[in-house]
Amino acid sequence: MQSIIFIAPPAAGKGTQAKLVSQKYGIPHISTGDLLRETINSDSEQSKKIKAIILKGGLVDDAIILELIENRITSSDCNQGYILDGFPRNVNQAILYDKLLEKLNKPLGLIILLELNKEIAKNRIVGRLSCKKCGSVYNEFLEETQPKKAGICDKCQTALSKRSDDNQETFEERYNTYLKETQPLIDYYEKTNKLYRINSGISKEYTFKEIESILGSSI
Ligand code: AMP
Repeated sequence: MQSIIFIAPPAAGKGTQAKLVSQKYGIPHISTGDLLRETINSDSEQSKKIKAIILKGGLVDDAIILELIENRITSSDCNQGYILDGFPRNVNQAILYDKLLEKLNKPLGLIILLELNKEIAKNRIVGRLSCKKCGSVYNEFLEETQPKKAGICDKCQTALSKRSDDNQETFEERYNTYLKETQPLIDYYEKTNKLYRINSGISKEYTFKEIESILGSSI
């Protein structure tokens, strides 16, 4: 199995798809957003700084991210490959990641770009609700993904919560950051011939089928 890098604007479903790939192919899902959210629970100065950046929708310092990634991908559960969700986020991170892979003698793997237009992304983000216990994701405004009982997870009956950065203002900033930082990253990976594009505005199932066919033809 190869490693996979997911690149996508906010709300394109990269977290959901990464989980599905992880379950089907048995490789770990590494989300830098989740790793960062785990680290901001402490009271340190660094964690306050990181929290403020996340709330504004900006990008956390590359050196901090690289350290998190190196620690994670050198764990033994990553020996057969892993899925990166949210990293690299810009060209500088991609260059640093290439150097890290060279040092660790690991291959780059595949890059999957989930494409989604801004309006669909905004609707998905502003209504997003998630379950802290089982990780299920819902949308309070989109009929097909509403929980059966308002505010309660269908799968484990836990109260659903909203991420503090899932509001319209932070969305605008996150989307603009994505366009500014990530478009050059897409150009960078396009040159490797390992980048695949998928329209992720149709459905979760459609996106996953497309991913399976890419993985099926390249493993
Ligand atoms: P996500 O869960 O991927 O939407 O990430 C949430 C927030 O964490 C982002 O808006 C950034 O502030 C921060 N973040 C996540 N991944 C990275 C990264 N690779 N580089 C810098 N900041 C990141």
